[in-house]
Amino acid sequence: MECQNYGLTRSVERENLNLNPLQRGGVLSAAAREALYDFGDGYSVCDYCAGRLDEIAKPSIGGFLEDLAKFINVDAVRTVHGAREGKFAIMHALCDKGDTIVVDGNAHYTTHLAAERNSLNMVEIPNNGGPEFEITPEKYREVLENAIDEKGEIKLALLTHVDGNYGNLTDAKKIGKICQDAGVPLVLNCAYSMGRLPIDAKELNVDFVVGSGHKSMAASGPIGVLGMKEEWADKLLERSSRHQKKEIEMLGCTSRGAPVATLMASLPHLVERVSKWDDEVQKARNFVEQMEEIDGVVQVGMRPTNHDLVRFETPFFHEIAQNHPRRGFFLYEELKKRKIVGIKRGQTEWFKCSAYGMTKEQVDYIADSFKDIAEKALD
Ligand SMILES: *Cc1c(COP(=O)(O)O)cnc(C)c1O
Repeated sequence: MECQNYGLTRSVERENLNLNPLQRGGVLSAAAREALYDFGDGYSVCDYCAGRLDEIAKPSIGGFLEDLAKFINVDAVRTVHGAREGKFAIMHALCDKGDTIVVDGNAHYTTHLAAERNSLNMVEIPNNGGPEFEITPEKYREVLENAIDEKGEIKLALLTHVDGNYGNLTDAKKIGKICQDAGVPLVLNCAYSMGRLPIDAKELNVDFVVGSGHKSMAASGPIGVLGMKEEWADKLLERSSRHQKKEIEMLGCTSRGAPVATLMASLPHLVERVSKWDDEVQKARNFVEQMEEIDGVVQVGMRPTNHDLVRFETPFFHEIAQNHPRRGFFLYEELKKRKIVGIKRGQTEWFKCSAYGMTKEQVDYIADSFKDIAEKALD
């Protein structure tokens, strides 16, 4: 057979400023790009494997996991294929079909799917509505306590550390304490935080943390991080009776090859960059300030923002779109002309964006471009 041309070329990151929040934290470090080349072949990390992926000495996956555990302050850690697989594995190990868990109302869809795949019922802690859409500790406590009263036992609670809709940073420490006092283990979903900002699982009173290598940890992925307190390690990392070295929830071996090699190569870069998180937050706040100089543009979610992912309501751009010959596409096209991408085509009423990792000059250029587009549209 003859195969089609699949169009496998990509210069988006090289030639533009990409504002897509999904893609900002997964840009490879220079070291990871080299590792990708060396470890691109399938099963490339398995040259010296003696049956346990997490104990391979060359490359030192064992040493890497030790450092990773320190990085997020957990007792045990494994790589998985993504934050979602981490959540699924925890639910699968701790819960039985038909159990009820509590999840925050800003949870990612993958939290819901992981629960569905495990046949679990979910009770949601609603956010406090617009314009902040905050998950408050008070509401979390109230819903959790009611759920315990009603069901007798809640085996697991989930909290999204930073959600992907508003970039709200939740008070994990307080909610962790609430769950601890109620005797319910808490999973903190750090897909948008681990690798961007410092995570200390013990300080935050959480039992489990999951992270996403391709979302926030400068790894090619797919790869996730699953960290836990000592008391859960036996349950989550239980061994097979037939294959004594293999851990059942991990299906023996998890990330093998380029995904884990790139994450390993990026760890020193992550250690360095999380220490500069305050600068990123400041940059995001400055960006918001500049954007809000445009008529009717307003950041929604908690203010001032505590994360690089920011969501704007932009009724002004939406109005322009109504009378523009290119309709809703005008904003995307005007940005593209200025080498700015990552805002969805056709979207003008609101959008999410992130300038994570960009320089101040680049952020200023982006804000000026939005202002320029707004002014030109008025002429
Ligand atoms: C992106 C995202 C996920 C999914 O992460 P994967 O590593 O791709 O599974 C989960 N939760 C949140 C909050 C996210 O933003």
